[in-house]
Amino acid sequence: MNDKIDSRYDVAIVGSGYSGTMVAVHLARAQRGLRIALIDRGKAFGRGVAYGTTDPKHLLNVRADQMGAFPNDIRHFYRWLQTHPENLAAAGVRELRGDAFIPRLVFGDYIQDLLGEACALPGILDIIHDEIVDLRPRENGWFQLIGKTGSKLEAARVVLALGNFPPGEALQNKPGERVWFMNNPYSAEVHAKLAEPGDILIIGTGLTSLDLLLTLDKTKREGKIHLLSRQGLFPQPHKKAAPYPTFLDPDNLPKTARALCHDVAQELRRAAAQGIDWRPVVDAIRPLNQAIWMNFNPTEQRRFLRHLRGLWDTHRHRCAPEIMAVKERLEAEGRLVCHRGYIKGYQPTEEQVEVTYRPRGTSEEKKLRVRYVLSCTGPQADYRKLNDPFVQQLLARDLLAPDRLRLGASTAEGGQICNQEGSVINGLYTLGSTQKGRLYESVAVPELRGQAAELAARLLADLEK
Ligand SMILES: Cc1cc2nc3c(=O)[nH]c(=O)nc-3n(C[C@H](O)[C@H](O)[C@H](O)COP(=O)(O)OP(=O)(O)OC[C@H]3O[C@@H](n4cnc5c(N)ncnc54)[C@H](O)[C@@H]3O)c2cc1C
Repeated sequence: MNDKIDSRYDVAIVGSGYSGTMVAVHLARAQRGLRIALIDRGKAFGRGVAYGTTDPKHLLNVRADQMGAFPNDIRHFYRWLQTHPENLAAAGVRELRGDAFIPRLVFGDYIQDLLGEACALPGILDIIHDEIVDLRPRENGWFQLIGKTGSKLEAARVVLALGNFPPGEALQNKPGERVWFMNNPYSAEVHAKLAEPGDILIIGTGLTSLDLLLTLDKTKREGKIHLLSRQGLFPQPHKKAAPYPTFLDPDNLPKTARALCHDVAQELRRAAAQGIDWRPVVDAIRPLNQAIWMNFNPTEQRRFLRHLRGLWDTHRHRCAPEIMAVKERLEAEGRLVCHRGYIKGYQPTEEQVEVTYRPRGTSEEKKLRVRYVLSCTGPQADYRKLNDPFVQQLLARDLLAPDRLRLGASTAEGGQICNQEGSVINGLYTLGSTQKGRLYESVAVPELRGQAAELAARLLADLEK
């Protein structure tokens, strides 16, 4: 930590991606003279993983006029863009439209701007660059936070805004072996390796893999890109359409995955008969997604994950059409080959690795010979399998417990963190992907902006008691 060490704060927020930063912004804007610490191990405060990219080809997957940081003003980002043409120009955007998909780095500029404004308000908002490795409850109900350097600070309330972790993968490069397996899709070093001549394999066909294609389109001159996933499902591209009315009754939501499927399929048929696209139908239930999930019992939640997750995620988390166009062009040029199947094994040699996989729906085995394999299978959400020192320490102290579906942490209403027994830990809060087990829909700005505002309001009320 820097010279702000050994300080006492009303609220310490660990993680300065969108979520943690917006909690700090709301607290500072309330102007109650609070002492707030915003701590991150990375240097790009306010950006986090998603908006820390420097590649202007990496676009938001939500339209500009829907990406406002405040739940009561979703056009706020769009208006900010109108008054900051220099940020758009620097990212190569010549024309601003409300329905455009803006480079993610510009959204990062916006959040950093909000953070800068918040720091200038009365009260204390300290930006602390360090990795927190331990959290110790004190007898007086406060917490002590320990930085990687051994430095300490104390806080009355702590918010864990830790975001997503790298993809989980049991594979490790063996000592002395050429590095051929990688699992950090956001690392510049990994990008450089993938651009080397020779074929490569990316496992996973989600939004992160599509991002990589945009980067590799520019950097990879020799060798094919192979993409492989079990279901071979890609995020669907957005398409403009008029909003569709809510068709589920909030007071009588489906109780099973099968009933949900039935209701949505029926509505899709109805919409199709009127020439309406499926997208607004899916969007119409978004405000109810968390309620639907919470209405399922654990067996139904598991059933949903087993049978519907892939389909749901690729239709719900869509991509900008420009991005899908690049994927299709790369395929047409023969630079990209997409596979559907299950990996059976890897055989690394000096120069290459032979990957054996079974194409879906067959019993045959096929082989790919590639230089590198990158796992892009989505963040590891089973905290017990993470080798993150802070998370391991939290688990050991029973200040964090996996939720029963291993989608995140065990949490209660309002983002309170629960221990292994399910009891709320006073003073310890979270938001974002840690809440996926309880809410499922808890990863994108349209949900996180509400969570950040609500958590800040709760902290303010709590501190006033
Ligand atoms: C590639 C990508 C693109 C996306 N695009 C969109 C989009 O277009 N629209 C949308 O709505 N959503 C998008 N999302 C979803 C995205 O997750 C959210 O919008 C949002 O950025 C999540 O922010 P967060 O703060 O919760 O997590 P993160 O951004 O992951 O931030 C967590 C922060 O915590 C820090 N941290 C973790 N542990 C520690 C520790 N021990 N000590 C100190 N610091 C720590 C990390 O360094 C990191 O900065 C995207 C996600 C990804 C991964």
